[in-house]
Amino acid sequence: MKIVVLVKQVPDTAEERKLNLATGQLDREATDSVVDEINERALEAALRLKDADKGTEVVAMTMGPADAVQALRKALSMGADSAVHIVDDSLNGADTGRTAATLAAALRVTGFDVVLAGNESTDGRGGVVPAMVAEHLKLPLLGSLVSADIADDGVHGVRQGEGGTLTVRAALPAIVTVTERFPEARFPNFKGILTAKRKPVTTLSAAELDVPAGVSRTVVVATVERPPRAAGRKLIDDGTAADELAEFLVANRLV
Ligand SMILES: Cc1cc2nc3c(=O)[nH]c(=O)nc-3n(C[C@H](O)[C@H](O)[C@H](O)COP(=O)(O)OP(=O)(O)OC[C@H]3O[C@@H](n4cnc5c(N)ncnc54)[C@H](O)[C@@H]3O)c2cc1C
Repeated sequence: MKIVVLVKQVPDTAEERKLNLATGQLDREATDSVVDEINERALEAALRLKDADKGTEVVAMTMGPADAVQALRKALSMGADSAVHIVDDSLNGADTGRTAATLAAALRVTGFDVVLAGNESTDGRGGVVPAMVAEHLKLPLLGSLVSADIADDGVHGVRQGEGGTLTVRAALPAIVTVTERFPEARFPNFKGILTAKRKPVTTLSAAELDVPAGVSRTVVVATVERPPRAAGRKLIDDGTAADELAEFLVANRLV
């Protein structure tokens, strides 16, 4: 089985993310970049299938600027066999539609039995790219799963909804998105870090992928810096703090 994991490099969520007010894009210089944690869980799911069946091939794929290769190196050090990096200046600032069309084109070239992705990124938070990819490829999407059994005969998954639990299944090839309920990712071991450097990374440009030319449909027209956070309010308990707190919670519709 060939599994492609869609990995996105994002600003470290532990740091304050900054918007580049001129471009409206995230200022990626202002913070460290990391592999989106939800994608590490998707990768872990793929690597557990590989642990169970050594014939399983795991490919990490990303669309991102040149330094996004770091995210792929992390995936390779965790145990992925190879990686695909779609890098092209014309894709800078791509919206979800363009990102999905490009990833779909790269998946056609790379080939796969199943694609694993996160249900939502921590920076753009669109939660739509995998569904768009599934539509481009005319394949089933099993989205926002809390658990999944993936085998040659198909994917059986569980999705937790407000109304209850859904059991879903689809034949392969299929697109699957995982949630934080999937197991935490393993840490790369020393051998993994060493071998990652020798593992193949295929680089693809937009031209090579036959991605329709043109710009993103969603463009940022204006940016306003977030106002600095107002200082909190201190309550000194002289016997009235409970009332004051209750009034504050009600007034701010927090209860
Ligand atoms: C603050 C902010 C606001 C934005 N607002 C919009 C907007 O309103 N409309 C719009 O069209 N675009 C918007 N974008 C751009 C959008 O984030 C990018 O197009 C992004 O590449 C894909 O969207 P997402 O992060 O929301 O993906 P999601 O749909 O949330 O991602 C889900 C999963 O898809 C996969 N995936 C997503 N992007 C990539 C990638 N580049 N490489 C590999 N796998 C990937 C990952 O597995 C990820 O976990 C915004 C970006 C930012 C930073």
